[in-house]
Order: sequence, then C-alpha cells, then structure tokens
Amino acid sequence: MAESTVGTTPPTVMTIAGTDSGGGAGVVADLRAMAACGAHGCVAVTAVTVQNTLGVTGVHTIPPEVVAAQIESVAGDIALGAVKTGMLADTPIIEAIVDACDRVGIGGDGVPLVIDPVAASMHGDPLLADAALDAYRTLLFPRAVLATPNLDEVRLLAGVDVHDRAAQYEAAKVMHGFGPQYVLIKGGHLQEDTDVCVDLLYDGHTFTELPGPRFDTGNTHGSGDNMASAIASWLARGVPVPEAVALGKRYVVEAVRHSYPLGGGHGPISPLW
Ligand code: PLP
Repeated sequence: MAESTVGTTPPTVMTIAGTDSGGGAGVVADLRAMAACGAHGCVAVTAVTVQNTLGVTGVHTIPPEVVAAQIESVAGDIALGAVKTGMLADTPIIEAIVDACDRVGIGGDGVPLVIDPVAASMHGDPLLADAALDAYRTLLFPRAVLATPNLDEVRLLAGVDVHDRAAQYEAAKVMHGFGPQYVLIKGGHLQEDTDVCVDLLYDGHTFTELPGPRFDTGNTHGSGDNMASAIASWLARGVPVPEAVALGKRYVVEAVRHSYPLGGGHGPISPLW
C-alpha cells in the first residue's frame, strides 16, 4: 500500500494583486512571504506587469469580471483566514473586487482585509490610475481591518506631506478617518539620514511606534508587498492586529537584512535566512 501523507492544512491567505515578471514584487513576493510566515497563499491576479529590476515597461490589466471570478472561485472552496490587496490598477477592477468581496464575506465583519494601497513602483512607474484614489477612500478603506500606506501613498490619498514624526501622526489620523480599523503609516521614506525607520500604528485611540533598523541598500524591491502579506499571514494564524503588525515588521527587517542584488537595478528582499 502507498505511504500516506502527513500534512495539515495551514492558515490560508489570498492576495489580490499584480504580477512582477522580475520576481521581486507583486503576487510572487506575496506568496514567498506567506510561505515564510506559515500560510498557504492563493491569488487573484489584477494585472500582468512587464517588469524587471530596472523598472516597469508595460501594464496589462485583467478584465474586472475575471478578477472577481478568481476571488469567488477561491472563496467558494477554500476557507480564507485573511485577504490582502496590492496593485489594483484602476476603478473598474476595484469596484469588481469590492462586489466580489461583499458576495463572499471578505472585509468588514467577515474575513480580515488588509489594504496595501500600491500606487507606483519604487522607480516611480504608475501602477494605479489617478482616478482610482477615490475608490480606495470610499470603497476599500471602510472595509479594511488595516491599511498600510507608505509616505508617497499618504500624500496621494490623504494630502499630507510627511517630513517629520509630527506629520506622520497627523497622516495617521487623516488615513484612519477613511474608515480602516487600523492604519500603519510606514516611515521608510522619512528621515533617510537616520539609522532607524519608524512605522506608526494607529487604531483611532492609541498610537504605537514600531522602530526598526534602517539598512543601507537599494535592494528593497517588494518590501511593501512583503509587509502586508506577512501581516495578513499572522492575522490568518489568529494573531491580533498589533502583534501581527509587529511580527510582520520583524519578518521584513530580516528579509531586508538578507536582501540580495539581482539584475542591474533594485534587488528583492529575501524570505530565507
Ligand atoms: N510591481 C507590482 C506588481 C507590485 O505589486 C508592486 C508593489 O508595490 C510593485 C511593483 C512595487 O514594488 P516596489 O515599490 O518595491 O518597487
């Protein structure tokens, strides 16, 4: 008789995001982070990007109904512990995602939804239509347990230019006003001459500063994707938001510490250490 298998089903997370053909960011990075944090990753692809470590040269969006169908197919079969979004490309795709999530119970009081409001690559290549910012504010953030903008995204979404810690606090309040239960204002782009990098978590009452080391490296491609995916994985494992955020940050710090050069541009962070 054949040997029986011994695996147990891990917590499951779905990423709704775009691809990066260079393998540094997007759904590929998400799946690596989920595996490293003990979760099984599922995907709903929103866009195929033509991309390497030097930049993005093409964006090809997936029809909104196909994005929605991926979400419904996965959720109709597999018990999801958390969902995260990355590159969503444009308003029709966001609207289709929101409708699909409402139909299958993702977001709000249902499966925890982490929104990483990806707007551009680290080279400045656009990954979101300008007109879609409003869909983030009105449709996605109110359904989210956590939003994880970086400072460029905060400027676009909340109109706050963050140059110091006080403005980071202000930005957290404005972003929280859009409706997520928690916001994490990532401080990676703040005070780049210091050797600490402080992310700020806010739940509408309490601010928590999460300091971490700053590394002198250009190989941080996909670190935002990794962060949201790691946090979503810990949420799927039943960890409360503040602890999931702290564990996600710890994962990203180690992954940046072990990042590696790739190609001629920005290399990825590493799930293996
Ligand atoms: N490409 C895709 C498909 C992404 O989802 C992301 C996510 O942020 C990026 C590129 C940008 O990554 P980075 O800002 O690290 O270059």
